[in-house]
Amino acid sequence: MLKLAIQKSGRLHEDSMKLLKECGIAISNGANKLKTEATNFPLQVFFLRDDDIPQYVEDAVADIGIVGENVVYEKNKSVKTVEQLGFGGCRLSIAVVRGEQYNNIQSLEGRRIATSYPHLTKQFLKKNKVNAEIHEISGSVEIAPGIGLSDAICDLVSSGSTLLTNGLKEVETILQSQAVLIRHNNFNAAQQQVLDKLLFRIHAVRKAKNNKYILLNAPNDKLDEIIGLLPGMKSPTVLPLADKGWSSVHSVLSEDEFWDKIEQLKAAGAQGILVVPIEKMVM
Ligand code: ATP
Ligand code: ZN
Repeated sequence: MLKLAIQKSGRLHEDSMKLLKECGIAISNGANKLKTEATNFPLQVFFLRDDDIPQYVEDAVADIGIVGENVVYEKNKSVKTVEQLGFGGCRLSIAVVRGEQYNNIQSLEGRRIATSYPHLTKQFLKKNKVNAEIHEISGSVEIAPGIGLSDAICDLVSSGSTLLTNGLKEVETILQSQAVLIRHNNFNAAQQQVLDKLLFRIHAVRKAKNNKYILLNAPNDKLDEIIGLLPGMKSPTVLPLADKGWSSVHSVLSEDEFWDKIEQLKAAGAQGILVVPIEKMVM
């Protein structure tokens, strides 16, 4: 049995629950519950504040946890990152008042910076040999300059719209972050086995998301050229169509090369191209 800590509510909660669901793990999310158990996988799920997750995992109160890299690095606990999960993307950035002149990092010398990330902010300033006053506050950091608490902030940004509405501009990026799976450092063989089983499923889910299943019709005289464009898991499947002289070709394409390949396939004579999502993909 593994104990997994996820965020109780907030930006990572939904995606963490969705990942478990896509891995075929059934858990009930009773409102205001502290913990629950999966019915079909040896997993217990704890719902916690994200800030507390690294500590709970270090102490092995939870064996594994899903949390932002920003929190992992800020808390600096002795935990191991096992897997990047591809959601919860954001960056930790320094922002200053929009109208203010900002030339480079030296412009922060002697200024007051409000942040919930004192450790990472200090580390960044030290690395750049800048002395600034850090004011640690726990929430609504973006309003600090407006109320005269600070000259700048260091906070998480995704679209930048919060900065915009608060009259701030992003000037330095300290860290790029996404949600990760962490574990403590004292795993036994049985725990590792359950984790491997979970990771196997996570890989299959993530791999499927990055790939599309493609079906197309190809004139037989163009078949070699078209097959040459397709990678497939081993090689494409080719089936004869009722219409003599044509074949149906099935393959898998990755998201990054998708549009380029479609254009090339069309140019090579492919017709009736169908693209369908893949639910799970096991290599
Ligand atoms: P908690 O109540 O659990 O302490 P919180 O208010 O600290 O929640 P959220 O705002 O829900 O945290 O953010 C959780 C995580 O979501 C962040 O630590 C970060 O990894 C990620 N995230 C992604 N985009 C953003 C964003 N634009 N602002 C803040 N966090 C973001
Ligand atoms: Zn938090």
